[in-house]
Amino acid sequence: MLTCKTIEDFVLEGQRVFIRVDYNVPLDEEGNITDDVRIRRSLPTVNYALDHGGKVILASHLGRPKGKPDPRLSLKPAAVRLSRFLGKEVKFASDCVGPAVEKGVQGLRPGEVMLLENLRFHPGETKNDPQFAQSLARLADVYINDAFGTAHRKHASTYGIVEFVARAAIGFLMKKEIGYFNKAFINPNRPLLAIIGGAKISTKVGIMEALLEKVDKMVVSGAMAFTFYRYLGWSTGTSLVEEEMLETAGRVIRKAWKGGVKLYFPVDLVVARKMVPQAESRIVPCQEIPEGWMGLDIGPASITLFGEVVGGSETIIWNGPMGVFELDKFKKGTLSVARAIATVPALSIAGGGDTDVAIHEAGVTDQITYISTGGGAFLELLEKGTLPALEVLKKEGGLG
Ligand code: AMP
Repeated sequence: MLTCKTIEDFVLEGQRVFIRVDYNVPLDEEGNITDDVRIRRSLPTVNYALDHGGKVILASHLGRPKGKPDPRLSLKPAAVRLSRFLGKEVKFASDCVGPAVEKGVQGLRPGEVMLLENLRFHPGETKNDPQFAQSLARLADVYINDAFGTAHRKHASTYGIVEFVARAAIGFLMKKEIGYFNKAFINPNRPLLAIIGGAKISTKVGIMEALLEKVDKMVVSGAMAFTFYRYLGWSTGTSLVEEEMLETAGRVIRKAWKGGVKLYFPVDLVVARKMVPQAESRIVPCQEIPEGWMGLDIGPASITLFGEVVGGSETIIWNGPMGVFELDKFKKGTLSVARAIATVPALSIAGGGDTDVAIHEAGVTDQITYISTGGGAFLELLEKGTLPALEVLKKEGGLG
């Protein structure tokens, strides 16, 4: 089981509490924040540190500035937004390391907070450069990692820094993510169901194989299903198929069979000749995709089938859409699955950017038990059962 030391395990009074947050927020063309959920999710940890007398230093990345300053990717707007949420001034440092920043941090009083400029303005961040990590560590008496979204990265602020700080632990967001992960996989209420959708087997096969060792049932949908159909010798028209993954599809089927895991594929499909908004579409059984047509969503029989599978499950993990849900014409399958999950009393955990968008669009955000804040991190945690940012805490005695 993943268990970690948390921020609650340390005395913070008068300490410089360096919190790695994930403020990688979407911006519009004028640089305005269009969705501040990531900032809001950091509040329990930030407030806790402030309430316990910490001098709070926040660090994050934003976008991909490629190791040099880019004013369009400044975290300044995040400082303004955070200040509104906290109801107090958030000081902003125009860099994240160096003598000026150290001096600014020295001047912080307990209960004050400072946000550092984008970590990725320095090449040392993504390279996990020890010198850069050490420079960050100079700002910290206590290091807290609360950036679940980047916990799968071995970067200076998520990984390298731990070696140079005296005390390290996780914050409340990280704790919540790990807590739900443990709930789903350590003695879960069964049946345990995984729903895996999306475009390509190649990006999900590791997760599917890892999950097959844990779950009772697995739904495989989205374009990925077509590679399985092809493996079974069915015609798939012009649907997206990964020819080089046919053997892999076979391996997944055999693994499910050996492990007694029930596998479900779409039984019918919405097909069209082109992937365009106004395409003429038809519903066909999955064995009857016409020549020149492609599957772009699951059909009504599959919606019913998946609804029944969901209804018979006590714990549900979901990642990936059932079809091309970006187009109105092909979103029904994905939204129906979101609604089906929302209506059952099971523990439901969803993750990944598309899945998150679909749940919002279906209007069922509040009825899903937990929506992970990590895309890549969520998938890697499902696949490997741990993440580099957690492992390094374990090595340094922070985990366990
Ligand atoms: P992934 O990143 O692997 O989770 O894949 C998400 C993408 O898969 C979305 O952009 C969907 O539009 C796409 N997708 C899902 N089903 C299909 C399909 N039947 N044909 C083509 N693309 C699909």
